Amino acid sequence: MQCEPTQNESSKSLILDAYSLRVYVRITAQTNSRKIFARREVTVLRIGMVANSDVEAILSKGLSRSGITREEALRLMEIDVHSPEMYSLYFVADRMTRQQFHNMGEVHAQIGIDYSPCSKRCKFCVFGTIAEKRVQFDVNEVVARAKIFQASGANAIYLMTTDGYDFDEFLNIGKQVKASLSLRMPMVANIGDFGPSEAESLAEAGFTAIYHAVRLREGRDTTIDPDVRVRTIKSAQNVGLSALFCLEPVGPEHTAEEMVDLMFLGKDLGVSLHGAMRRVSAEGMPLHHHGDITSPSLAKAVAVCRLVMGDSLLAHCTHEPNLPSLLAGANLLWAEAGPNPRDAEVDTSTQRGRGLSVEECRRMLWEAGFEILTGPSPCARKRDVS
Ligand code: SF4
Repeated sequence: MQCEPTQNESSKSLILDAYSLRVYVRITAQTNSRKIFARREVTVLRIGMVANSDVEAILSKGLSRSGITREEALRLMEIDVHSPEMYSLYFVADRMTRQQFHNMGEVHAQIGIDYSPCSKRCKFCVFGTIAEKRVQFDVNEVVARAKIFQASGANAIYLMTTDGYDFDEFLNIGKQVKASLSLRMPMVANIGDFGPSEAESLAEAGFTAIYHAVRLREGRDTTIDPDVRVRTIKSAQNVGLSALFCLEPVGPEHTAEEMVDLMFLGKDLGVSLHGAMRRVSAEGMPLHHHGDITSPSLAKAVAVCRLVMGDSLLAHCTHEPNLPSLLAGANLLWAEAGPNPRDAEVDTSTQRGRGLSVEECRRMLWEAGFEILTGPSPCARKRDVS
Protein backbone atom coordinates (compact mmCIF):
# COMPACT_ATOMS: atom_id res chain seq x y z
CA MET A 1 0.00 0.00 0.00
CA GLN A 2 1.30 3.39 -0.92
CA CYS A 3 1.00 6.21 1.56
CA GLU A 4 1.07 9.70 0.30
CA PRO A 5 2.90 12.23 2.41
CA THR A 6 0.40 14.29 4.22
CA GLN A 7 -0.54 17.86 4.14
CA ASN A 8 -1.13 18.03 7.86
CA GLU A 9 0.98 15.56 9.72
CA SER A 10 2.77 12.27 9.42
CA SER A 11 4.71 10.03 11.78
CA LYS A 12 6.70 6.83 11.69
CA SER A 13 7.29 4.40 14.47
CA LEU A 14 9.53 1.36 14.59
CA ILE A 15 8.14 -1.71 16.26
CA LEU A 16 10.58 -4.50 16.92
CA ASP A 17 8.75 -7.78 17.04
CA ALA A 18 10.57 -9.87 19.63
CA TYR A 19 9.51 -13.18 18.19
CA SER A 20 10.21 -12.76 14.54
CA LEU A 21 13.07 -10.30 14.81
CA ARG A 22 11.58 -8.36 11.98
CA VAL A 23 11.06 -4.66 12.08
CA TYR A 24 7.74 -3.14 11.14
CA VAL A 25 7.51 0.45 10.07
CA ARG A 26 4.13 1.89 10.87
CA ILE A 27 3.34 4.95 8.89
CA THR A 28 0.53 7.16 9.95
CA ALA A 29 -0.58 9.75 7.51
CA GLN A 30 -3.34 12.23 7.91
CA THR A 31 -5.01 13.77 4.92
CA ASN A 32 -7.64 16.46 5.10
CA SER A 33 -10.42 13.96 5.63
CA ARG A 34 -9.02 10.70 7.03
CA LYS A 35 -6.15 8.90 8.65
CA ILE A 36 -4.31 6.25 6.69
CA PHE A 37 -2.36 3.50 8.37
CA ALA A 38 0.13 1.31 6.64
CA ARG A 39 2.46 -1.28 8.06
CA ARG A 40 5.43 -2.37 6.06
CA GLU A 41 7.71 -5.18 7.01
CA VAL A 42 11.35 -4.33 6.62
CA THR A 43 13.97 -6.99 7.06
CA VAL A 44 16.35 -6.52 9.91
CA LEU A 45 19.13 -6.70 7.38
CA ARG A 46 17.91 -3.55 5.67
CA ILE A 47 18.29 -1.39 8.71
CA GLY A 48 21.61 -3.03 9.44
CA MET A 49 20.86 -4.57 12.84
CA VAL A 50 21.78 -8.10 11.84
CA ALA A 51 23.92 -8.36 8.75
CA ASN A 52 24.39 -12.12 8.89
CA SER A 53 21.48 -14.42 8.37
CA ASP A 54 23.15 -17.22 10.36
CA VAL A 55 23.34 -14.95 13.40
CA GLU A 56 19.73 -13.92 12.91
CA ALA A 57 18.67 -17.58 12.79
CA ILE A 58 20.55 -18.37 16.02
CA LEU A 59 19.04 -15.37 17.77
CA SER A 60 15.54 -16.35 16.68
CA LYS A 61 16.14 -19.85 18.01
CA GLY A 62 17.56 -18.49 21.25
CA LEU A 63 14.51 -16.35 21.83
CA SER A 64 12.37 -19.47 22.04
CA ARG A 65 14.36 -20.33 25.21
CA SER A 66 14.96 -23.90 24.05
CA GLY A 67 18.74 -23.42 24.08
CA ILE A 68 21.32 -23.31 21.30
CA THR A 69 24.08 -25.70 20.25
CA ARG A 70 27.77 -25.42 21.07
CA GLU A 71 28.53 -24.45 17.45
CA GLU A 72 25.87 -21.75 17.58
CA ALA A 73 27.27 -20.39 20.83
CA LEU A 74 30.73 -20.26 19.28
CA ARG A 75 29.30 -18.37 16.31
CA LEU A 76 27.78 -15.79 18.66
CA MET A 77 31.09 -15.45 20.51
CA GLU A 78 32.62 -14.27 17.21
CA ILE A 79 30.39 -11.18 17.14
CA ASP A 80 32.30 -7.94 17.34
CA VAL A 81 31.31 -6.14 20.54
CA HIS A 82 30.75 -2.86 18.71
CA SER A 83 28.73 -4.25 15.80
CA PRO A 84 24.98 -4.04 15.14
CA GLU A 85 24.75 -7.81 15.76
CA MET A 86 25.97 -7.25 19.29
CA TYR A 87 22.96 -5.10 20.11
CA SER A 88 20.63 -7.72 18.66
CA LEU A 89 22.33 -10.34 20.85
CA TYR A 90 21.91 -8.09 23.91
CA PHE A 91 18.28 -7.54 23.01
CA VAL A 92 17.46 -11.23 22.68
CA ALA A 93 19.18 -12.23 25.93
CA ASP A 94 17.57 -9.32 27.76
CA ARG A 95 14.12 -10.19 26.43
CA MET A 96 14.53 -13.84 27.45
CA THR A 97 15.38 -12.87 31.01
CA ARG A 98 12.69 -10.24 31.43
CA GLN A 99 10.04 -12.61 30.11
CA GLN A 100 11.12 -15.68 32.05
CA PHE A 101 11.72 -13.89 35.36
CA HIS A 102 8.84 -11.42 35.01
CA ASN A 103 11.22 -8.47 34.93
CA MET A 104 12.42 -9.23 38.47
CA GLY A 105 16.00 -8.60 39.54
CA GLU A 106 17.57 -9.93 42.71
CA VAL A 107 20.54 -9.35 45.00
CA HIS A 108 22.55 -12.04 46.75
CA ALA A 109 24.86 -10.93 49.55
CA GLN A 110 28.14 -12.64 50.42
CA ILE A 111 30.05 -12.44 53.70
CA GLY A 112 33.69 -13.52 53.61
CA ILE A 113 34.69 -15.10 56.91
CA ASP A 114 38.48 -15.34 56.63
CA TYR A 115 41.30 -13.55 54.88
CA SER A 116 44.15 -16.09 54.74
CA PRO A 117 46.83 -17.46 52.41
CA CYS A 118 45.25 -20.46 50.66
CA SER A 119 47.17 -23.62 49.75
CA LYS A 120 45.27 -24.08 46.48
CA ARG A 121 47.17 -21.13 44.99
CA CYS A 122 44.63 -20.13 42.35
CA LYS A 123 46.41 -17.55 40.22
CA PHE A 124 43.39 -15.27 40.01
CA CYS A 125 42.69 -15.14 43.75
CA VAL A 126 44.10 -12.75 46.32
CA PHE A 127 44.22 -15.56 48.91
CA GLY A 128 46.14 -17.88 46.62
CA THR A 129 48.69 -15.26 45.61
CA ILE A 130 49.36 -12.07 47.55
CA ALA A 131 47.61 -12.55 50.90
CA GLU A 132 50.12 -12.80 53.74
CA LYS A 133 48.27 -12.00 56.94
CA ARG A 134 45.47 -13.99 58.54
CA VAL A 135 42.30 -12.28 59.65
CA GLN A 136 39.21 -14.09 60.78
CA PHE A 137 35.83 -12.52 61.42
CA ASP A 138 34.24 -13.87 64.58
CA VAL A 139 30.79 -15.38 64.58
CA ASN A 140 29.15 -12.31 66.14
CA GLU A 141 30.54 -10.13 63.37
CA VAL A 142 29.31 -12.53 60.70
CA VAL A 143 25.84 -12.73 62.28
CA ALA A 144 25.64 -8.93 62.52
CA ARG A 145 26.52 -8.53 58.85
CA ALA A 146 24.02 -11.17 57.79
CA LYS A 147 21.28 -9.32 59.66
CA ILE A 148 22.22 -6.05 57.99
CA PHE A 149 22.13 -7.72 54.57
CA GLN A 150 18.71 -9.21 55.32
CA ALA A 151 17.35 -5.87 56.53
CA SER A 152 18.64 -4.24 53.33
CA GLY A 153 16.60 -6.63 51.20
CA ALA A 154 19.07 -9.37 50.18
CA ASN A 155 17.35 -12.36 48.58
CA ALA A 156 20.00 -14.88 49.73
CA ILE A 157 22.95 -14.84 52.14
CA TYR A 158 26.28 -16.51 51.26
CA LEU A 159 29.03 -17.46 53.69
CA MET A 160 32.46 -17.79 52.07
CA THR A 161 35.79 -19.13 53.35
CA THR A 162 39.17 -19.97 51.90
CA ASP A 163 39.79 -23.62 51.04
CA GLY A 164 41.55 -24.63 54.24
CA TYR A 165 38.97 -23.28 56.67
CA ASP A 166 37.89 -25.71 59.37
CA PHE A 167 34.65 -27.35 58.20
CA ASP A 168 33.16 -27.86 61.68
CA GLU A 169 33.84 -24.26 62.56
CA PHE A 170 32.12 -23.22 59.33
CA LEU A 171 29.09 -25.34 60.20
CA ASN A 172 28.96 -23.76 63.64
CA ILE A 173 28.95 -20.26 62.14
CA GLY A 174 26.38 -21.32 59.58
CA LYS A 175 23.99 -22.59 62.24
CA GLN A 176 24.26 -19.37 64.23
CA VAL A 177 23.68 -17.24 61.15
CA LYS A 178 20.71 -19.41 60.20
CA ALA A 179 19.19 -18.98 63.65
CA SER A 180 19.47 -15.20 63.37
CA LEU A 181 17.70 -14.89 60.01
CA SER A 182 14.19 -15.34 58.70
CA LEU A 183 13.40 -19.03 58.24
CA ARG A 184 12.74 -18.36 54.56
CA MET A 185 16.11 -16.77 53.85
CA PRO A 186 18.18 -19.03 51.56
CA MET A 187 21.71 -19.64 52.83
CA VAL A 188 24.52 -20.49 50.45
CA ALA A 189 27.91 -22.09 51.25
CA ASN A 190 30.86 -20.90 49.18
CA ILE A 191 33.69 -23.09 50.46
CA GLY A 192 36.31 -25.60 49.28
CA ASP A 193 35.56 -29.02 47.86
CA PHE A 194 33.73 -31.61 49.93
CA GLY A 195 32.10 -35.02 49.69
CA PRO A 196 28.69 -36.58 50.39
CA SER A 197 28.89 -36.53 54.21
CA GLU A 198 29.84 -32.85 54.31
CA ALA A 199 26.99 -32.13 51.91
CA GLU A 200 24.59 -33.79 54.35
CA SER A 201 25.99 -31.73 57.20
CA LEU A 202 25.55 -28.50 55.24
CA ALA A 203 21.92 -29.33 54.53
CA GLU A 204 21.31 -30.23 58.19
CA ALA A 205 22.88 -26.96 59.31
CA GLY A 206 20.33 -25.05 57.24
CA PHE A 207 22.19 -24.31 54.02
CA THR A 208 19.94 -24.43 50.97
CA ALA A 209 22.52 -24.08 48.18
CA ILE A 210 26.20 -23.93 47.34
CA TYR A 211 28.06 -21.58 45.08
CA HIS A 212 30.67 -23.71 43.34
CA ALA A 213 32.14 -23.15 39.88
CA VAL A 214 34.58 -25.06 37.75
CA ARG A 215 36.76 -22.10 36.95
CA LEU A 216 38.38 -21.23 33.62
CA ARG A 217 41.63 -23.17 33.29
CA GLU A 218 40.85 -25.14 36.42
CA GLY A 219 43.85 -27.39 37.06
CA ARG A 220 46.18 -25.02 35.17
CA ASP A 221 45.60 -21.69 36.87
CA THR A 222 44.62 -23.60 40.02
CA THR A 223 45.91 -26.76 41.67
CA ILE A 224 42.45 -28.34 41.75
CA ASP A 225 41.31 -31.12 39.42
CA PRO A 226 38.16 -29.96 37.58
CA ASP A 227 36.59 -33.37 38.24
CA VAL A 228 36.85 -32.71 41.98
CA ARG A 229 34.87 -29.49 41.53
CA VAL A 230 32.21 -31.38 39.55
CA ARG A 231 31.99 -34.11 42.21
CA THR A 232 31.43 -31.50 44.90
CA ILE A 233 28.56 -29.98 42.92
CA LYS A 234 26.97 -33.40 42.45
CA SER A 235 27.36 -34.26 46.15
CA ALA A 236 25.50 -31.08 47.03
CA GLN A 237 22.74 -31.67 44.49
CA ASN A 238 22.26 -35.22 45.72
CA VAL A 239 21.14 -33.95 49.13
CA GLY A 240 18.89 -31.25 47.68
CA LEU A 241 21.22 -28.27 47.77
CA SER A 242 20.85 -26.05 44.71
CA ALA A 243 24.03 -25.51 42.71
CA LEU A 244 24.84 -21.90 41.82
CA PHE A 245 27.42 -21.64 39.08
CA CYS A 246 29.07 -18.97 36.92
CA LEU A 247 31.51 -18.66 34.04
CA GLU A 248 34.49 -17.17 35.84
CA PRO A 249 36.92 -15.49 36.13
CA VAL A 250 36.98 -14.28 32.53
CA GLY A 251 40.18 -12.62 31.31
CA PRO A 252 41.29 -11.47 27.85
CA GLU A 253 43.43 -14.58 27.36
CA HIS A 254 40.51 -16.99 27.52
CA THR A 255 39.30 -18.43 24.22
CA ALA A 256 35.69 -18.66 23.09
CA GLU A 257 35.99 -22.47 23.21
CA GLU A 258 37.06 -22.41 26.86
CA MET A 259 34.18 -20.13 27.78
CA VAL A 260 31.55 -22.03 25.84
CA ASP A 261 32.74 -25.32 27.40
CA LEU A 262 31.95 -23.93 30.86
CA MET A 263 28.61 -22.51 29.75
CA PHE A 264 27.60 -26.02 28.70
CA LEU A 265 29.14 -27.68 31.74
CA GLY A 266 26.84 -25.59 33.94
CA LYS A 267 23.88 -26.55 31.79
CA ASP A 268 24.79 -30.25 31.84
CA LEU A 269 25.09 -30.12 35.64
CA GLY A 270 21.58 -28.69 35.97
CA VAL A 271 22.62 -25.59 37.89
CA SER A 272 19.93 -23.09 38.84
CA LEU A 273 22.13 -20.01 38.37
CA HIS A 274 24.57 -19.26 35.61
CA GLY A 275 26.10 -16.09 34.20
CA ALA A 276 29.55 -14.57 33.83
CA MET A 277 32.09 -12.80 36.02
CA ARG A 278 35.21 -11.06 34.87
CA ARG A 279 38.57 -11.43 36.53
CA VAL A 280 39.76 -8.53 38.64
CA SER A 281 43.36 -8.79 39.76
CA ALA A 282 45.66 -6.66 41.84
CA GLU A 283 49.28 -5.71 41.30
CA GLY A 284 51.58 -8.66 42.07
CA MET A 285 49.09 -11.37 41.06
CA PRO A 286 50.39 -13.80 38.38
CA LEU A 287 47.69 -13.11 35.78
CA HIS A 288 47.75 -9.36 36.26
CA HIS A 289 49.80 -8.79 33.09
CA HIS A 290 46.91 -10.08 30.95
CA GLY A 291 44.80 -7.09 31.96
CA ASP A 292 40.99 -7.10 32.10
CA ILE A 293 38.14 -7.58 29.69
CA THR A 294 35.80 -4.64 29.13
CA SER A 295 32.19 -4.42 30.31
CA PRO A 296 30.80 -4.98 26.77
CA SER A 297 32.93 -8.13 26.43
CA LEU A 298 31.63 -9.38 29.76
CA ALA A 299 28.09 -8.58 28.63
CA LYS A 300 28.64 -10.64 25.48
CA ALA A 301 29.60 -13.69 27.56
CA VAL A 302 26.57 -13.08 29.80
CA ALA A 303 24.30 -12.88 26.75
CA VAL A 304 25.66 -15.95 24.95
CA CYS A 305 25.43 -17.97 28.17
CA ARG A 306 21.84 -16.81 28.55
CA LEU A 307 20.96 -18.23 25.12
CA VAL A 308 22.79 -21.47 25.92
CA MET A 309 20.81 -21.96 29.13
CA GLY A 310 17.38 -21.34 27.63
CA ASP A 311 14.73 -21.78 30.31
CA SER A 312 16.78 -24.25 32.36
CA LEU A 313 17.81 -21.76 35.05
CA LEU A 314 16.13 -19.62 37.70
CA ALA A 315 18.33 -16.52 37.53
CA HIS A 316 21.28 -15.23 35.51
CA CYS A 317 24.17 -13.36 37.16
CA THR A 318 26.98 -10.99 36.40
CA HIS A 319 29.90 -9.90 38.55
CA GLU A 320 31.24 -7.45 39.49
CA PRO A 321 27.98 -5.51 39.24
CA ASN A 322 27.77 -3.70 35.90
CA LEU A 323 25.02 -2.08 33.90
CA PRO A 324 25.82 -3.43 30.39
CA SER A 325 25.30 -7.05 31.53
CA LEU A 326 21.97 -6.11 33.10
CA LEU A 327 20.86 -5.11 29.61
CA ALA A 328 22.20 -8.37 28.16
CA GLY A 329 20.39 -11.09 30.10
CA ALA A 330 21.65 -10.80 33.68
CA ASN A 331 19.17 -10.14 36.50
CA LEU A 332 21.19 -11.03 39.61
CA LEU A 333 23.96 -9.07 41.35
CA TRP A 334 26.13 -9.80 44.38
CA ALA A 335 26.75 -7.49 47.30
CA GLU A 336 29.84 -8.28 49.37
CA ALA A 337 31.30 -7.76 52.84
CA GLY A 338 34.39 -9.08 54.62
CA PRO A 339 37.26 -10.73 52.71
CA ASN A 340 36.86 -11.02 48.94
CA PRO A 341 39.11 -13.03 46.56
CA ARG A 342 39.30 -10.04 44.20
CA ASP A 343 40.23 -7.45 46.79
CA ALA A 344 43.44 -6.87 48.74
CA GLU A 345 41.36 -4.97 51.31
CA VAL A 346 40.54 -7.22 54.25
CA ASP A 347 36.99 -5.90 54.36
CA THR A 348 35.67 -5.30 50.87
CA SER A 349 32.69 -3.33 52.15
CA THR A 350 34.78 -0.43 53.43
CA GLN A 351 35.24 2.79 51.47
CA ARG A 352 38.43 1.50 49.83
CA GLY A 353 37.03 -1.95 49.08
CA ARG A 354 35.50 -3.21 45.86
CA GLY A 355 32.31 -4.69 47.31
CA LEU A 356 28.96 -3.02 46.74
CA SER A 357 26.18 -2.88 49.31
CA VAL A 358 22.75 -4.42 48.79
CA GLU A 359 21.34 -0.92 48.35
CA GLU A 360 23.86 -0.13 45.60
CA CYS A 361 23.02 -3.37 43.79
CA ARG A 362 19.30 -2.71 44.07
CA ARG A 363 19.83 0.77 42.69
CA MET A 364 21.73 -0.65 39.71
CA LEU A 365 18.95 -3.15 39.01
CA TRP A 366 16.47 -0.29 39.11
CA GLU A 367 18.66 1.69 36.70
CA ALA A 368 18.42 -1.25 34.32
CA GLY A 369 14.64 -1.22 34.52
CA PHE A 370 14.12 -4.25 36.78
CA GLU A 371 11.63 -4.54 39.57
CA ILE A 372 13.33 -5.81 42.71
CA LEU A 373 12.40 -9.21 44.07
CA THR A 374 11.32 -9.24 47.71
CA GLY A 375 11.71 -12.45 49.69
CA PRO A 376 13.75 -15.57 49.06
CA SER A 377 15.58 -16.14 45.81
CA PRO A 378 14.05 -19.02 43.82
CA CYS A 379 17.44 -20.15 42.52
CA ALA A 380 18.94 -20.60 46.01
CA ARG A 381 16.10 -22.58 47.54
CA LYS A 382 16.49 -26.20 48.53
CA ARG A 383 15.52 -28.70 45.81
CA ASP A 384 13.20 -31.60 46.23
CA VAL A 385 15.17 -34.81 45.73
CA SER A 386 12.64 -37.23 47.22
S1 SF4 B 1 39.83 -19.31 44.82
FE1 SF4 B 1 39.35 -20.48 46.68
S2 SF4 B 1 40.63 -22.33 46.50
FE2 SF4 B 1 41.49 -20.84 45.07
S3 SF4 B 1 43.11 -19.79 46.23
FE3 SF4 B 1 41.21 -18.58 46.45
S4 SF4 B 1 40.29 -19.30 48.34
FE4 SF4 B 1 41.80 -20.83 47.71
